[in-house]
Amino acid sequence: MRARPTPPTLGTVTVTKGCPAGPPVHEHRHGGSPMPELFIGGQWTAAADGEVREIRCPADGTPVATVDEAGAADAAAAVTAARAAFDDGPWPRTPAAERGRLLLRVADLLERDKDTYARAESLDTGKRFVESRYDMDDIANCFRYFGDLVASGNDGRVVDTGQPEVDSRVVYEPVGVCSLITPWNYPLLQTAWKVAPAVGAGDTFVLKPSELTPHTAILLMRTLTEAGLPDGVANLVLGAGGAVGAPLTTDERVDLVSFTGGLATGRRIMAAAAPTVKKIALELGGKNPNLVFADTDFDTAVDYALMAVFLHSGQVCSAGARLLVDDELHDDFVDEIVRRARAIRLGGPFDEDARSGPLISAEHRDKVEKYVAAGLAEGAVLRCGGERPDDPRLRDGFFYLPTVLDECSPGMSVIRDESFGPVLTVERFRTEEEAVALANDTVYGLAAGVWTQSVERSHRVAARLRAGTVWINDFHPYVPQAEWGGMKQSGVGRELGPAGLAEYQEAKHIWRNTAPRPQRWFE
Ligand code: NDP
Repeated sequence: MRARPTPPTLGTVTVTKGCPAGPPVHEHRHGGSPMPELFIGGQWTAAADGEVREIRCPADGTPVATVDEAGAADAAAAVTAARAAFDDGPWPRTPAAERGRLLLRVADLLERDKDTYARAESLDTGKRFVESRYDMDDIANCFRYFGDLVASGNDGRVVDTGQPEVDSRVVYEPVGVCSLITPWNYPLLQTAWKVAPAVGAGDTFVLKPSELTPHTAILLMRTLTEAGLPDGVANLVLGAGGAVGAPLTTDERVDLVSFTGGLATGRRIMAAAAPTVKKIALELGGKNPNLVFADTDFDTAVDYALMAVFLHSGQVCSAGARLLVDDELHDDFVDEIVRRARAIRLGGPFDEDARSGPLISAEHRDKVEKYVAAGLAEGAVLRCGGERPDDPRLRDGFFYLPTVLDECSPGMSVIRDESFGPVLTVERFRTEEEAVALANDTVYGLAAGVWTQSVERSHRVAARLRAGTVWINDFHPYVPQAEWGGMKQSGVGRELGPAGLAEYQEAKHIWRNTAPRPQRWFE
């Protein structure tokens, strides 16, 4: 963080260089004049204290953009705007069909601007451009799903009280002002899972994306405005979690905090929200087991095991980072994983031959390195990786080689803790019973994979796994129609699906006595 240079070029975000290839993604300008990046009450606003932050591309460390860095005063102003828009603005009282139609318009605009969004996301995260484009498709689908769900009417229900003179209804109303706090790994995707249902439900919100990846959140404010969302419904503050995220979790005018991020931050947010008894929705980490039984299709299971853990360099909450493999299959299976992991080509977002990118930051790579070192000290066997690449092409980025740690066992820190990097741990099992026990031996419960050709076994094991999502002979797919979230310490509540809309609604029971008469209770 540094003070804005004088004279201030307020809010000009010019993506000038950064990762190899590509002209500037965009310049944030409004009516030809420079435009700041905080979005409060329908206005593009500079940070109150004039701070800015430089965003760097993780693939080569070069500066990508300079954006406004909000503080507590900006967070408070954003909550004021969101509160006013909820209490006095039109959006919460707009018919559901109209709210749904707006979400469908947003989906169309996201599709129109897909490449702009994808390039911005890739420059912020270092993610391959092709993967960012897939993400944009998923994001448009998310808006479309919630648009259809809301437009199709979620009007509540009539309750049969058994009393003919009573007209009783349950209606679903917006929950109020929502603080939406999102991480850097899938910046716009995680944001869409919150913004689409919040807007669809009739809420107003303040969004705080990760300080490292602000670009697509800025673009989204423009898209929501273009789609016709009234002023004050969507508000954006950029900045560090402690400075600008924390006030959004304690402000008594906020009704709900929806957070995606790490377990430690989730615990802090839960505690911060307690004094004002806010509703909370938490999507936290995972330490996701991928169970491979001996009766599986070997080549397919190897292929998916690689994708399960090394996709986006392991920076995926549902990464299949714990391989549990049948003892009978272990040696051949791990040999093949290692052979193929060594061949994964790393590179920047616009390197068409690359199959995986960098880690998000130098600090995050340090964390992954410490995690691997701890595993080795505890007795894990390094089969490949375990270091930075020596390729001069990758020298300036935060790259780390795909790593396989074999002969791991339950007590080890590499089994307990999330690395959020390209690190696969391998454990053996001998029976189905043991496989299930190992898989469930974690504080997390986000996702799990099961590989077997036995339908009976797949159902038996899926039923016993304590995870919010279980994939059988697959890994990572999801659809917006199906709920996503974690059991145990992987979270509270669900995103996506009908439950993902319900998080942003309050149920209200309205009871009307159509023929009231004195009861004479106290006579
Ligand atoms: P963090 O928990 O560090 O941060 C997530 C967000 O919370 C960021 O916007 C961060 O701000 C903000 N934040 C940090 N401290 C506070 C605070 N005290 N009050 C309010 N907000 C705060 O996670 P990462 O960004 O490092 O993301 C990686 C983690 O997220 C992984 O552990 C991963 O498992 C988890 N995750 C879970 C997902 C799921 O669906 N369950 C999906 C994606 C990630 P800033 O970064 O700007 O400081």
